[in-house]
Amino acid sequence: MNESIEFKSKYTVDDNGYYGQFGGAYIPEMLHHNIEELQQKYLKIIYSEKFQTEFKQLLKDYVGRPTPLYFAKRLSEKYGTQIYLKREDLCHTGAHKINNTVGQILLAKALGKTRIIAETGAGQHGVATATVCALMNLPCVVYMGEVDIERQAPNVKRMKLLGAEVRPAKSGSRTLKDATNEAMRDWIANPEDTHYIIGSVVGPHPFPDMVARFQSVISEEIKIQLKDKTGKENPDYVVACVGGGSNAAGAFYHFLNNPLVKLVGVEAAGLGIDSGHSAATTVLGKLGVLHSSKTLFMQTKDGQVVEPHSISAGLDYPGIGPMHAHLFDTQRAIFYSATDDEALAAVKELSMLEGIIPALETAHALAALHKIGAKKEEVVVLNLSGRGDKDLDTYIKAMQL
Ligand SMILES: *Cc1c(COP(=O)(O)O)cnc(C)c1O
Repeated sequence: MNESIEFKSKYTVDDNGYYGQFGGAYIPEMLHHNIEELQQKYLKIIYSEKFQTEFKQLLKDYVGRPTPLYFAKRLSEKYGTQIYLKREDLCHTGAHKINNTVGQILLAKALGKTRIIAETGAGQHGVATATVCALMNLPCVVYMGEVDIERQAPNVKRMKLLGAEVRPAKSGSRTLKDATNEAMRDWIANPEDTHYIIGSVVGPHPFPDMVARFQSVISEEIKIQLKDKTGKENPDYVVACVGGGSNAAGAFYHFLNNPLVKLVGVEAAGLGIDSGHSAATTVLGKLGVLHSSKTLFMQTKDGQVVEPHSISAGLDYPGIGPMHAHLFDTQRAIFYSATDDEALAAVKELSMLEGIIPALETAHALAALHKIGAKKEEVVVLNLSGRGDKDLDTYIKAMQL
């Protein structure tokens, strides 16, 4: 594992917490102590033998790793290339998010924290956090916009069943960014005993790097599994959807230094890039500070966050993490976007061709398959970030099932 701690790339974080011009920790004075503690200790803790033993054990026995790498024969025939699906949809709780929350709860314990907070939009990260808090018997408060609490009622019930307290954010647009503000406020008020589990590769340094490292197990497994199946460990393409960017970061991670592996991120175009109802940050975003890091996000002329839109709650985020902003800026990764309608069509296609109902977020990655131009003999690994159970109501309405 010391190989991983040493893993360096011009696309991973530098010693100052930046990815090129992106990243950093733009935090209120009151959080300096917490963030500095994290910055100084996170690598030492997560690469300690004790941590690694427990983390690997839980990923195996609790999360269900390694997740399969599945050769999708009918999908491959349809697109005239060799497509493998990395089955993060088979993780406990139905998506990759649990990889990160398991890592962060172990980190919180190692830091001696006794209380966990999180913010959530769709509730998926809230559920993954409430799950590991139940596992570790730690009290959990999840901030969620009042509007989202209404829109995502089943996930609110799940969190409650798991023992978490869901606190409504009642200010502003009463959605994710307001929940984030509330969580920050809580952390400022409770810096001693509380750890804030951020759910994607966003937020102040070291969160983007830490979350990427926890999710990097995805590409670690892909290498081994692909070698086993095809004789070579590097695919020609890795494709993943990008909300904040954690599943993509995990799928890209161990391929960052190999320019022969093309990295493809897919954002949500909502009703269309120029519709005013979109979340296509690489196209529409500008440089600024969002969620305590310097990155690209959709903003008005005077820098106010523009409310994003996507049919998929997990991609309904106004920015992308600093690592992806850098991958975009340097053109190490190529970014596409898919509309709500294209994503829905991709859900239907994968369900009918492979018997796998994907999450709406994941469907955006699938919707880009015809855009990447992979040749017949080339290998495409698509990160199937989550399963579609949570989206069934949306599918029922949109497809008149
Ligand atoms: C939350 C979520 C995403 C988006 O988050 P990232 O941090 O960009 O990975 C993607 N897919 C699923 C299934 C999700 O739940």
